[in-house]
Amino acid sequence: MVREDCIFCKIANGEIPAAALYEDDDFRVILDAGPASRGHALILPKQHYQDLCELDEAVGAKVLGLAARLGKAMKSGLGCAGFNLVQNNGEAAGQTVKHFHMHIIPRYEGGPEMVAWNPGVVSPEDREQIVEEVTAHM
Ligand code: AMP
Ligand code: ZN
Repeated sequence: MVREDCIFCKIANGEIPAAALYEDDDFRVILDAGPASRGHALILPKQHYQDLCELDEAVGAKVLGLAARLGKAMKSGLGCAGFNLVQNNGEAAGQTVKHFHMHIIPRYEGGPEMVAWNPGVVSPEDREQIVEEVTAHM
């Protein structure tokens, strides 16, 4: 399904032009318009899925392999030292465009720290509780 009101549907299907790094039957990979670093790219499925929870499993199974190909090409072509995969689900997680996308963010030696958090603490009791709360819904 493609949504008329979705900008990433339009970009993924070529209705809106974009700098594309890769394309096949399932995906178009574009450069992010507001890059976190030089070469920041987005893997966009051509079909509309709001987020990871909606993503078709067969399509989803191809995302990591494609991300690895892109990451390798970025290391060779752009000279980055590594890369982050970032994938936001829901507004609370920072998702601003409601069409599944995987960020591939090249990381350069001496570049800014980006994907980081301050490690918190978890008690043994809460750890057990968390395991119960999540596994009950798997
Ligand atoms: P997220 O916060 O995970 O939803 O990420 C959305 C990303 O899409 C941001 O990094 C934006 O810079 C990027 N973005 C939004 N609109 C466009 C567009 N028209 N072309 C390319 N990238 C876009
Ligand atoms: Zn869409």
